[in-house]
Amino acid sequence: MTTAAVIGGGIGGLALAGFLDAQGWNVEVFERAPALPATGTALGMWPEAMDVLNRLGAGARVRELGHPQEVAEIRDGAGRALGPRIRAKGATVILSRPRLLETLAEHAPGIEFGSTVGDPGSLDHDVVIGADGIHSATRTVVAGRRIEPRPLAAEVVIGRCPGSTESFTEYWGPDRLFGVTPRDGGFINWYSEFRPEAVADDAPDPDADPVGFLERVYDGWAPRVLDTIGRIDTESVFHYRVREMPRLHRITRGRFALIGDAAHAMTPNLGRGACETLLDAAALAESLGPASTADVPAALARYQRLRMRAAQRTALASHVMFRLALARRGQFPRDLLLRPLGRILG
Ligand SMILES: Cc1cc2nc3c(=O)[nH]c(=O)nc-3n(C[C@H](O)[C@H](O)[C@H](O)COP(=O)(O)OP(=O)(O)OC[C@H]3O[C@@H](n4cnc5c(N)ncnc54)[C@H](O)[C@@H]3O)c2cc1C
Repeated sequence: MTTAAVIGGGIGGLALAGFLDAQGWNVEVFERAPALPATGTALGMWPEAMDVLNRLGAGARVRELGHPQEVAEIRDGAGRALGPRIRAKGATVILSRPRLLETLAEHAPGIEFGSTVGDPGSLDHDVVIGADGIHSATRTVVAGRRIEPRPLAAEVVIGRCPGSTESFTEYWGPDRLFGVTPRDGGFINWYSEFRPEAVADDAPDPDADPVGFLERVYDGWAPRVLDTIGRIDTESVFHYRVREMPRLHRITRGRFALIGDAAHAMTPNLGRGACETLLDAAALAESLGPASTADVPAALARYQRLRMRAAQRTALASHVMFRLALARRGQFPRDLLLRPLGRILG
């Protein structure tokens, strides 16, 4: 039987395992964590990602658990509409990472929890897939050298608060933004992205006192931002430095392939990382085809053609969005450009 090792039981690994199992492959998923995560932030599943989930047979469950995103809009720090107010007609679904992973796991066979792969080259499966995230060990095998993600001069503080909302709203100010989105389970998802310049020297530490920190960074901002900060569930707060992968020249080598963040971790500003990961999983499974007729070298070459540049283009667009949203200079022309766009699209 044709065998596949999937290193990493995250979004990409579980989706790919589900597809390959349905195509008759003997799949083993190695996941270093002891179990699926119980906590995590919300992820937006764009229509293309929903299409992949439908093909996997998980779309209905994701729609049932998640929350449709009806409206997306950009405002300035004071709350004035800047950009497009787009009616998304519910085609994008937002749900928390734990709910998404649970749903994907229902379709994925052979998950070995608590199993860290130190040397992907030691696995003797017909195909070995690195779905092992931003610090991928498989990437070293594929690239032929260690390549680390690039830290950018920005950080994110993210979490949830009780409540509900229909809209995905981002508030943009100099060197910082604040976002509010729907999520499942009677919660709102919020996030703050900021450059070091946005933080006063004597601001509270974001890990020790997230509310005090955010109140300082967003002092005087729109009432909805301040109200959200006042109600945050401090247990849920997660703080990280923004990083992205340098562009790789290959995402496959021999019987090894990379999917998801291992291949193209990107800034969070387009909300596309998980979506691109699902597109990778679907394209790789489709390229590999049924186990009985698999031609691994041809399939991996096809997968690389289909996905490498496409995901890198999205990563570049996400980087441009990152720069636009956190601009310090040129805000006035940026905002002027966004307004007519809003009238055209809104
Ligand atoms: C706070 C936050 C919010 C985000 N919001 C969005 C959003 O709204 N929309 C969106 O599309 N994307 C979003 N993203 C990005 C998205 O989460 C990632 O792009 C996506 O999770 C990538 O999936 P993956 O399967 O490639 O990697 P991961 O989800 O990182 O999974 C990798 C898995 O591999 C395991 N692993 C690693 N090394 C090994 C090893 N050696 N052996 C065994 N197991 C290993 C890890 O434990 C992990 O479970 C967000 C990211 C963050 C951090």
